[in-house]
This record gives sequence, structure tokens and C-alpha cells, in this order.
Amino acid sequence: MSELPDTPNAPAAGTDHAALAVIGSGPAGVSAVRAYLDAGGPGPVVMLTSDSDLPYERPPLSKEVLAGHAPAEGQPIQGKGLPDGVELRRDTTVTDVDLQAHTLQAGGDRLGFDRLIVAAGASPHPLPTAEPDAEIHLLRSLDHAQRLVTSAQHARSAVVIGSGFIGCEAAASLARRGIQTTLVSTEEAPQLKRLGRQAAEKITQWLVGLGVEVRTGVRVSGVQAPRTVHLDDGITLSPDLVLAAVGVTPGGGLLEGTEVMVHEGRVVADEFLLAVPGVWVAGDTARAHHGLAGRPLPVEHWGDALAMGEIAGFNAAQDAQGHDDGARAWETIPGFWSTIGEHTIKHSAWGDGFESVEWVERTGGFTAWYGDAEGRLVGMLTYNADDDYERGQALLEAGATVTEAAAGDRPESDGDGAGEAAE
Ligand SMILES: Cc1cc2nc3c(=O)[nH]c(=O)nc-3n(C[C@H](O)[C@H](O)[C@H](O)COP(=O)(O)OP(=O)(O)OC[C@H]3O[C@@H](n4cnc5c(N)ncnc54)[C@H](O)[C@@H]3O)c2cc1C
Repeated sequence: MSELPDTPNAPAAGTDHAALAVIGSGPAGVSAVRAYLDAGGPGPVVMLTSDSDLPYERPPLSKEVLAGHAPAEGQPIQGKGLPDGVELRRDTTVTDVDLQAHTLQAGGDRLGFDRLIVAAGASPHPLPTAEPDAEIHLLRSLDHAQRLVTSAQHARSAVVIGSGFIGCEAAASLARRGIQTTLVSTEEAPQLKRLGRQAAEKITQWLVGLGVEVRTGVRVSGVQAPRTVHLDDGITLSPDLVLAAVGVTPGGGLLEGTEVMVHEGRVVADEFLLAVPGVWVAGDTARAHHGLAGRPLPVEHWGDALAMGEIAGFNAAQDAQGHDDGARAWETIPGFWSTIGEHTIKHSAWGDGFESVEWVERTGGFTAWYGDAEGRLVGMLTYNADDDYERGQALLEAGATVTEAAAGDRPESDGDGAGEAAE
């Protein structure tokens, strides 16, 4: 566990009633308490987290930290600690929420609250086919990353299971350490479903270029203790290190059985991120209605968790101060950047699929424009093509077509700023 400077001027620990309780100390929870206090929300504010560490940035953990280019320490979220006036309860898992009584249970302690923000993120799936005592790393927390780095320091070979972003980034980072790394995946190519064939081929080239052996279209049929990985094509691998990156379970299950609606582990909310009066949700745990997309969007991205937390915190503060008409809606376009070795790709999309891909080669880079069945732009992926990336944000906001995007058009200004955003 690493230590960051502790929160100064926090209220005395142990209060049994909070004006605002926040579950989770990831980006959504942290930006929520910052926005809540900035907007004049009353205290006390209590943040409860299962994490042992002070809030930290997750994105470097699968990149610089795992590659050995940065220390395995927590970097404060956006470079700063929690604001004064937040009581952070670490190693504190909320096990029950009673929305009638406005209380939550964490270990032996019960906390009453006036308002609640749920920012419980997601936790990685264990590998279902592994023996219980098999040595398989997961990667979500700083603690996970520190264990993984310790193993990597002594490993000559590694198997990474799963070709999502965490799997691809981690495989690249392990290979950059000089570890002989194999990526195995049920997908036909890394990120094929999410990004399409051309992008999957590029990612494969980058991984192979770093020395990663990419074994796709295979399933792990079992892992015997300590680290014997059986693939369903008959191959057996016995690496020094195994990492499973096979997806996550959102943390909304905690609210099952309450007045809040939970869909596939996510808390359902309106565009103001309100689940029921007095309860907001933000980040990976949310299934909120998106103001621009006009439909619920589950997103699992760092920047969106920050943005949603800010909205939830601001809206909770407005509510606490009786400002009924001041709530902000969630309208930012979801997206993330991912770095595989030295290649950073930038993705913006509604995130619920595409029907067509228009691929445009750029000097030293590329852009993929994704369309729906009617040819409307639903997403884009850029590599070394920042002009397209900036233009694409505005095109998505403006509801442009893939043809317009690929032709290099800029969106028409409709007077509400969507056009100007591209300039
Ligand atoms: C290694 C790694 C690299 C990543 N890189 C990128 C990237 O480059 N770009 C990108 O866009 N996204 C990236 N992501 C995804 C991004 O980190 C998540 O989308 C983001 O952290 C979600 O924020 P959150 O606040 O919703 O949840 P989390 O960050 O998961 O935080 C949830 C918090 O809730 C706590 N918690 C959960 N349940 C309970 C409970 N019952 N009681 C108390 N506390 C609880 C947890 O301990 C944690 O503190 C990465 C993720 C990982 C793991």
C-alpha cells in the first residue's frame, strides 16, 4: 500500500450522520465531492471506500507503472488530494443501503445520510475456469498493480488473458519489460468487436512489434495451480506470471432490492444522474440517460467518470440548497484514450455499437469513422490525427453523417455552439 498526503482539516472521524455520503474513491467519487463542496453543498461529507489507498489515478497502472517506467505508487487524481471537509473512510466496504431509513452499513458501522452519491465503479471478473489456488493476477486497484509489478520483476514469461484495453495495454507493458508475453483471447483479433477489423489489425501489429505472441480465437479451458494455462486448441502454457483481464462487474448490485432500479449491475438514472430523489450515480456504476444521445449509455472511461462525478456532486449541492431548477445534465461525449506501448489511440463514441466503418489513412496515423444503420456518425477512433479527433467531437454532437465526417466536412453551426466547438 502506498501513502499519499492525508486530507487536511477533515472532520473528526466517526460521525454517524452525513449530509452527503459518497460510496467509492475513484474519479467519479472524487470529482463528486469536489464539485459538491465547490457548489456550496453542506457538510459533513463522508466518502467510504473499499480501497486501502488514498484516491489515485488508475490509467498509469497498466501503462507506465507496469512497463517499469514509473514507480508503483499512487498518483493523486488530477494531481491533487481531497478537498478540506471530506472524511475519507478507507478499507470500508458498504454492504447494505437502506433508502427508506437513509442509512448505509459498512462493517459494524451504520451511517445516516441526507443525500447519497453511488460511485462504486466496477471490479474485475475472476477467471471462471481457474482452480481456486491458481496464481492469477487481476488489475484494477493500486494494490493489484503493486503485486503484479512485484511478480513481473521476477518473471521471464507471462500470459495475459483477454484482449480488451486492459489486456492489450498490459501485454504491451510486460513485453516492454523484456518479458516473453503471450496474449490469449476468444476474440478473432484484439478489440475486433469494439473497434472493427482495421483497428484490430493495427493493434495486433503494434503488439507483435513489441514481441507479444498474439493467440486469438482460443479459450482458456482451465488454469491449474500454480500457473499452467490450458487452451481449448490443445496448447498448454506454463508462464511465470498470469494476468486475467476478462471484464468487470459494475458495483450497482449493492443497491439491488432498494427503490433504485439496477440493470446488469448498473444503477439506472436520468440525465441529471438522479436515480431516485436524494440518490445520484456516476462513473462505471451508472446506466444514465445521456442528454445528447437520447438513450441510456453505460460507459467505463476515466474522463467520463470525472465528468459524471462533477455533475452528480453539483446537482446534489443544488438540491441540498433548494435550487430546484439548477441541475446540470450529462451531455459530454463519452470517450477514452488508450496507450499500447508507445501508440496512443483516442476514441469517442456513444459506445453501443456500429454498423459501418469508414477508414481514412493519415500521415503516420489513421481515423476510423463509425456509423449506424442509417449512416449517422456514432463514433470515431483516431491515431496521430488530432484534427479529426477535435472535428469528430463536434460532428458527433451535431449528429453528422459518416459521409460528411469522412469527406472532411465541418459541422454546421446551429447557434448553440456545437459548430464552434470544432474551430
Ligand atoms: C489499469 C487500468 C487502466 C485504465 N486506463 C484507462 C484509460 O487509459 N482511459 C480510460 O478512459 N479509462 C481507463 N480505465 C478505466 C477507468 O479507470 C474507469 O473507467 C474509472 O476508474 C471508473 O471510475 P469510477 O469512479 O466509476 O470507479 P472506480 O475507479 O472503479 O472506483 C470505484 C471505487 O468504489 C469503491 N467501492 C466499490 N464498491 C464499494 C463498496 N461496496 N463500498 C465501498 N467502496 C466501494 C472502490 O474501492 C473504488 O474506490 C482504466 C482502468 C484500469 C483498471
